[in-house]
Amino acid sequence: MINNAEFLSIFVDIILLSRCVTTVKEIILVSACLLGLRCCYNECNNTDQLILDLRKKCILIPVCPEQLGGMQTPRPPSFFIKGDGSQTLEGIDNLINDRNENVSSHFRKGSEEALKICRLFNIKTAILKDKSPSCGTHQIYLKEKLTKGMGVTATILKFNGIRVMSENDIRRPDERKN
Ligand code: SF4
Repeated sequence: MINNAEFLSIFVDIILLSRCVTTVKEIILVSACLLGLRCCYNECNNTDQLILDLRKKCILIPVCPEQLGGMQTPRPPSFFIKGDGSQTLEGIDNLINDRNENVSSHFRKGSEEALKICRLFNIKTAILKDKSPSCGTHQIYLKEKLTKGMGVTATILKFNGIRVMSENDIRRPDERKN
């Protein structure tokens, strides 16, 4: 038999434990530029208030794969010359910058580092900036033409079972950005 004091102690433990469980927030990887960090090639950001507001419900981890891949900010813009991120991850050098320099290895490295962060924090969802050669989830630039495809980091995360969404995927159709 347990006495009243022991019962009270167990009851308090259960209350504290349930509080811990209910306050666990989902951790989401987010393109750093969407959270206001000036990590774009031209030193700008893509601040997105709807994504910033997710901080009330989730823990957001900002990541810029191009910086993680060793590229500076500002830096020359990069684009695909063939295929998309899946070919880059196969080892094909299909990314160049506007100085005609091959930058594919930087993109591969950045994608691997982003994946490491997801594994460190057991992240299951990523919200990434569409149209970027790293973060693009639905579209990328093939030379100067916007085309269907995924960036290198979006691809590696998807291949590893992480749900990858763009900034538009969390919006109603009438609220989507161009
Ligand atoms: Fe934003 Fe991704 Fe480009 Fe970094 S690599 S600036 S996070 S879109």
